[in-house]
Amino acid sequence: MLNFHVLTLFPDMIDNILKTSIIGRAIANGHILTEVVNIRDFTNSKHKKVDDYPYGGGAGMLLQAQPIYDAYLSIMNNIKDKAPRVVYVTPQGKLFNQQMAKELAEEENIVLLCGHYEGIDERVLLEIVTDNISIGDYVLTGGELPAMVVVDAVSRMVPGVLSNASSGENESLSNFLLEYPQYSRPEVWQDRRVPEILLSGDHAKIDKWRCEQAVMRTKERRPDLYEKYLNEG
Ligand code: SAM
Repeated sequence: MLNFHVLTLFPDMIDNILKTSIIGRAIANGHILTEVVNIRDFTNSKHKKVDDYPYGGGAGMLLQAQPIYDAYLSIMNNIKDKAPRVVYVTPQGKLFNQQMAKELAEEENIVLLCGHYEGIDERVLLEIVTDNISIGDYVLTGGELPAMVVVDAVSRMVPGVLSNASSGENESLSNFLLEYPQYSRPEVWQDRRVPEILLSGDHAKIDKWRCEQAVMRTKERRPDLYEKYLNEG
């Protein structure tokens, strides 16, 4: 079972997402476990302060090292795993992708650290972080949404989380291809017909058609991925 431990200043943002749909079910069924730790509960400050001005000046506030480190130690005290992956979600990290999601799904424990305001005192990052992950080249106000993106994408790769074990294998981005187009009832909608081949019942032909569509679509929409498919897929 995979255990996520999320360090955040805004637990409510996380709790709501975790309750919902497939991830909610994965937690209820015991495929994944999530622990949300409020960094503020670990501050030594009388006024529950967790941030301060950056040395050297500059805009905004930084999360201080002490509460984050103590919150991290509280997690470490409760798990057997002595070297869990500790992911800081940050626009300065490696761009997250499906291969990274698959790889992380093999861990037993993943600690996710969410920054806020202008970020986090570098010293605690050096002390605890093993992986820096970015969800894209844009800057968000906090790490809660990125952390949930990671939890969602990684959880889908944990055996048993998706109802059909193979549905994670054929979809977009596995083998560097986007998924083929899909259709459901009715056969005709707004004068658009479902491609005849999908109604033929000939599964070999359907597989071939889907494969061709996936290649065409990838070439058209994601030439960068298509190159990878040709070279490594
Ligand atoms: N001053 C920081 C910098 O320039 O790198 C940005 C801080 S950002 C406003 C606040 C927090 O949001 C970060 O500490 C990080 O946890 C999170 N965050 C923002 N954009 C992100 C992204 N693209 N991927 C992952 N986390 C992000």
